[in-house]
Amino acid sequence: MPGSNQISAILQQALAAVASSASLKDLEAVDNRYLSRKNGLLTSILKTLKDIPIEERKTFGAAANEARLKLEEAIAQAQEGLRTSKRDSSLDPTLPGISHKIGSIHPITRVIEQICQSFYGMGFTIARGPEIETDYYNFEALNFPPDHPARDMQDTFYVEGGLLLRTHTTPVQVRTLEKSKPPVKIITPGKTFRNEAISTRSYCVFHQVDGFLVDEGVTMADLKGVLVAFCRDFFGEDLKLRFRPSFFPFTEPSAEVDISCFLCGGKGCQLCKYEGWLEILGCGMIDPNVLNNVGYDSEKYTGYAFGMGVERIAMLKYKINDVRLFYENDIRFIRQFR
Ligand SMILES: [Zn+2]
Repeated sequence: MPGSNQISAILQQALAAVASSASLKDLEAVDNRYLSRKNGLLTSILKTLKDIPIEERKTFGAAANEARLKLEEAIAQAQEGLRTSKRDSSLDPTLPGISHKIGSIHPITRVIEQICQSFYGMGFTIARGPEIETDYYNFEALNFPPDHPARDMQDTFYVEGGLLLRTHTTPVQVRTLEKSKPPVKIITPGKTFRNEAISTRSYCVFHQVDGFLVDEGVTMADLKGVLVAFCRDFFGEDLKLRFRPSFFPFTEPSAEVDISCFLCGGKGCQLCKYEGWLEILGCGMIDPNVLNNVGYDSEKYTGYAFGMGVERIAMLKYKINDVRLFYENDIRFIRQFR
């Protein structure tokens, strides 16, 4: 004949089964095993009441009912717990996990970092300046007098108050020289603006890295040495460089630098338009007028300067044929640079 001890034993067993249930399905099985109307272990005990002596029936019935309520409550609580923690019967540990999307560094940012890294190694430090400039820093101090035809080379965005969006990062050179004493050895990465028609080759916003060194006895040979070291570090060890005479108002003499095509090795390919050479930067010896403008003795000090377009270098390096891709924020494009 069943007794209160037996009820308590069944309840303990049932509660342990609830505690070890990992899914709603498991809980349903516990519910069936102990509370099913037909043949649940606890419900069956209640059915034996009629065989129990009448004086014991009341205590026994109350104990059995109490156990049933306790178990029902425990099951309900466990179900709630599983639902809120989403660990229900649909959990399939063999499914692949949810992967988090990993961002990527924009190719322009990456190329700027790589360029800077290369010049850090040669002892350059970084200087930055404002993107909204005065006419003085953007043109006049750099040897572009008001009527100088070179100003027509750059279509400028003018803003209120006679200010303008800088057309190159070279004004940072003037600002840095003004507040420093030689030797000054700086690179100036940053954003620049020109009022250009937007096409596959030009955009109204772009990036430049300029660099310069001013000290006693700086020569064109120092400039060549630094640029050869940079180009070989950045594009490849066996590159050739050539310097072509050019013109910039703030350097004299001025040169443009080509590297032998790193894709075809100079034999000619689509990237270099079958010329074997790629134009990558402009440079020269800082014009004495620029040094005089910042209060340096141009008889004593000389300096070199160079500047490169980051977009152009990124396009060459990653073989990108449309500059607009950098600014359209198409995730399919950006993703390729992970
Ligand atoms: Zn080539």
